[in-house]
This record gives sequence, C-alpha cells and structure tokens, in this order.
Amino acid sequence: MQMTNDATHDGGMSEERASAWAKLKARVEACERCELAQTRTKVVFGQGTVDTPLVFVGEGPGADEDAEGLAFVGRAGQLLTQILSAGGISREDVFITNVVKCRPPNNRTPSPEEMMQCGDFLEAQLLLLRPKILVCLGNTPMKWILKTTEGITALRGRWFGWRGIEVMPMFHPSYLLRNDSRKKGSPKDLTWQDVQALKERLDRYGKEKKE
Ligand code: SF4
Repeated sequence: MQMTNDATHDGGMSEERASAWAKLKARVEACERCELAQTRTKVVFGQGTVDTPLVFVGEGPGADEDAEGLAFVGRAGQLLTQILSAGGISREDVFITNVVKCRPPNNRTPSPEEMMQCGDFLEAQLLLLRPKILVCLGNTPMKWILKTTEGITALRGRWFGWRGIEVMPMFHPSYLLRNDSRKKGSPKDLTWQDVQALKERLDRYGKEKKE
C-alpha cells in the first residue's frame, strides 16, 4: 500500500469506483448545503489511502484543518499519528475523515441538522471505501454511526457493526490532549489498549487476505 500524505490515492479501486469517488469528492468540495459553508475556509474531504481496511472518522475540521483542507493535521492529529505509529499502524495506510466536512465556528459540536446534511457524504465515502474496520473518534461520530445515546466512555474499546463493517469507538485525540495522565485506567492508557486490540484485529484481516 502506498500513499502520499496530502491527497487521496485511488490505486486500489476499480475504474468504476474510482470514478464515483472522484465525483463524490468534487460534489463535497463544491457543497454549500448547510450553514457551515458560510464560515469555512476549505472543505476537508479527508485523506489517506483508499485501498485500506481501516478508516477513522472524527467530528469535524478544526482551525488547522480548515486552513489546510486536510483532516487531522493539528495537534490532535499529530497525537493520533504518534499513537497509531506506536501501535504499529501507519497513518499512510489508513483513510481519515470527519462527520462534517466544514469547520463548525469556534469548534462547536456540529448541529444535528448539519450532521444530517453532511452525513450522507460520509456514508457515501464509507460505501465506496468498503473498509473492514471503522474507528469512531469521540462521541459525535460514534453517535452518528451507532445511533446510540451512550457516551464514549461506556462504549470505547468495544466492537459493533455497521453495514458489514466492524466499528470500534475510541477517545478523540483532542480529549487525550486535555487528559494527559498515563496512569492505569486513564484515557491514554485505555486508548493504548484500544490501539493494540485494533492492530490485532487488523493483522487478522491481513492474514486472511494472504491465505
Ligand atoms: S459541512 Fe458538509 S453539508 Fe455542510 S456545507 Fe460543508 S460539505 Fe456541505
């Protein structure tokens, strides 16, 4: 699997899927469906490799992401890269995006209306990417995907399903930046356990593919 850091690599898709993907990207990048279009700088479609068994979904772009048009490039994104890399997962081998593709002002939580409008795009992305595993980073993507009223603390590290894709909620890296303790049972410690479980499941898929 190969990938550049700033663009979508579509080498693993059939011609038909690659064309649907390019059309979807163009639609998202021109979208003005909801109010967030008024205040955004750049639309953040998401990036990484599309030929991947593993997709991450966060809430929405922050200031750095809005400025660069790329997902998870600020401090939280850098922490995510470090955590994954420590667990043996390269950021270059996954695809990463958000529930809403434009920055909510002052990083507020996107409204249910905004998520409904933009969620269609996420759904279309996931159906084209067809990953084996989807990691929801924090409450917002977890609630959107799993339609649950439970919080991330209760559900993180557990496995669920969505349209044939295995889903694991994990803490959002910005939450980990605010909770720096590494003590046993701290959010960082629990996230480390989650990343190890994730890697184990990923390796299992890798083996199945080779057999
Ligand atoms: S957040 Fe989504 S629905 Fe709203 S304008 Fe941006 S791309 Fe369109």
